[in-house]
Amino acid sequence: MTAPVTRIDAIRYARHERSAAGNFVRAVDDHDLPMPLDYFVWAIHREGHPPVIVDTGFGEDAAAARGRVMIRPVVQGLRDAGIDHLSVEDVILTHLHYDHAGSLSAFPNARFHVQDAEMAFATGRAVCDRAVRVPFDGEPVAQLVRKLYADHVVFHDGDAELAPGIALRLCEGHTAGLQAVVCETARGPVVLASDAAHLYANITRRIPFPIFVDEPAYARAQARVMELAGGSLDHVIPGHDPLVLACFPSENGIARVDLPPLRPIAETQ
Ligand SMILES: [Zn+2]
Ligand SMILES: [Zn+2]
Repeated sequence: MTAPVTRIDAIRYARHERSAAGNFVRAVDDHDLPMPLDYFVWAIHREGHPPVIVDTGFGEDAAAARGRVMIRPVVQGLRDAGIDHLSVEDVILTHLHYDHAGSLSAFPNARFHVQDAEMAFATGRAVCDRAVRVPFDGEPVAQLVRKLYADHVVFHDGDAELAPGIALRLCEGHTAGLQAVVCETARGPVVLASDAAHLYANITRRIPFPIFVDEPAYARAQARVMELAGGSLDHVIPGHDPLVLACFPSENGIARVDLPPLRPIAETQ
């Protein structure tokens, strides 16, 4: 029997140069060495259906405001992967941070899948705290509220099956309602972890990225991601790791993460 998910693209659209110190909540030996972040959206392909897009990235305005290097607009990245953004019917928002939930207007025909807890948090009193607010942008959240009033939002409360071979798994801690996406492929489950694990090193060092609403829950989320991946790093796709493009078969900044990595991820750690 063929696997329901036939291809998964990890499409890089932006990059941020920084050192390792910024990527871990506790001190690390290599704190002053470069450890850049890549920014991705993901596309899940199945036979006979339009691709399901995971996250919508950010646009030029957010890139300029936050000093990120835009490699290409997300819509162009999708085009480079052979995807017409207007044909997209389902978009999963793993969480509502600015780098995952901007550019909603690029998908006028899509339903947006979001966790109850994430929407409640991003539109609630917690956001009054400036420090909590930093990784969110108000405009994309407001756009999502408008989508809600136009019947374009689907809420999920915890784990859910979106479609055959595509499952949402609540992995909160980084945010109140972060959902990872588990895809059934020919090589077994592939877990799009998003920011449940920014980098493979956050998992292997067991030190989370320094942005979270609940640190113990974040640690459990990282453990859950590994469990969903059958204990194999090769089956985890972190949210921001340049190793994704370096290790998986890739072309033009698009990695085929449904395929096995060319080199075991464990060897890179
Ligand atoms: Zn995030
Ligand atoms: Zn992120």
